[in-house]
Amino acid sequence: MPHRTSRFVHTGFERDPATGALTPAIYRAVSFHHQDPDQHLRWDYSRSGNPTRDALEGAIAALEGGVRGFAFASGNQAITAAFLLFAAGDHLIATRDCQGGTQRLVRAVLGRFGIKVTYVDTDDLDAVREAVRPETKALLVENFSNPFLRVSDIPALAAFAHRQGLKLIVDNTFLTPYLQAPLSLGADLVLHSATKMIAGHGDVTAGLAATADEELGRALYTVQNATGGMLSPDDSYQVLRGLHTLPIRMERAQATAQGLAEWLLGQPEVALVHYPGLSEDPGRATAARTVRGFSNMVTVRLEDRRLVAPMARHLEMIRVGAGFGGPETTISLPELHCHAALTASEREERRLTGEILRFSVGLEELADIEGDLRQALDRAEAGIQ
Ligand code: PLP
Repeated sequence: MPHRTSRFVHTGFERDPATGALTPAIYRAVSFHHQDPDQHLRWDYSRSGNPTRDALEGAIAALEGGVRGFAFASGNQAITAAFLLFAAGDHLIATRDCQGGTQRLVRAVLGRFGIKVTYVDTDDLDAVREAVRPETKALLVENFSNPFLRVSDIPALAAFAHRQGLKLIVDNTFLTPYLQAPLSLGADLVLHSATKMIAGHGDVTAGLAATADEELGRALYTVQNATGGMLSPDDSYQVLRGLHTLPIRMERAQATAQGLAEWLLGQPEVALVHYPGLSEDPGRATAARTVRGFSNMVTVRLEDRRLVAPMARHLEMIRVGAGFGGPETTISLPELHCHAALTASEREERRLTGEILRFSVGLEELADIEGDLRQALDRAEAGIQ
């Protein structure tokens, strides 16, 4: 199939040969009958393998250009499984500007098991180079970064990692396999919070992973099977359904995001817009070279943080809350939502302060999004004057 959109529609499940059904059955069975105890069964126990989950795992492997796929109970479970490939004393370098949940996992859990992480801006190759130690085993890159949408150069990082004997792991949640397939650019392991754009409707929590080679695939399977953090059959079905419509949702949402970013630049209350689709964005050149689109996420810094609370109260269509990637446009406040896991001083150091808003642009008309923001900002301003 030559076109990417067609591949997303068809990958994962074609039809059930027994019934002709065009969507996969949801197999809730825990156990699979062994008529002949000597016979090798593809499935025997659902934690170890399940036909519905297999359909999704096959789809993410194919769409990421990998050899093996995995479905986990959440994005953070997928990240946890990736960390469990390492051992006490190992050191990883991670994107500084990464989701709060990864930082909570490192601080609250992994530190006790002797895994160490240094955070650097992974869009700065010199910073990455300087952070490498003898015990460094991998780079964990979140692309685009969260919430400032900094663009890491995945082909350059892959080349660097492999020269140093390191693995390159990419959290591809923001871009999805539709906008970038990091394994095809040299990464070893790709991770997703499928909760977001992949499932796409704000009604399922899920994680995905895919490996570039069998050896890493076997190691990750051992972690998945041993720890049991896999995705349920029902949720596997939902995520596979989301993958089929991802291209068309992403095309629509990112076109609106581009329009919104340009509109936000012209609003007097906005001090700075972070969006790699803007010609003046520092990540624009790398993005233009390495990704197929600029995503549906836009982050802004307002001039005055006092506007944020009243603006949120006056919004009529746009919702405010944690999470992103659903059909509706939402705004997250890093302080309260995506980076609540950081301490106040960590947020201050990373400039994740109260005037930052992170937009997840949904499927509404651009004019409605702009209209709702404009009226909410006007009413907020009238209130603080
Ligand atoms: N990776 C990224 C980039 C995220 O933004 C998130 C959550 O927001 C996660 C991973 C964790 O995903 P989940 O909430 O599905 O555990």
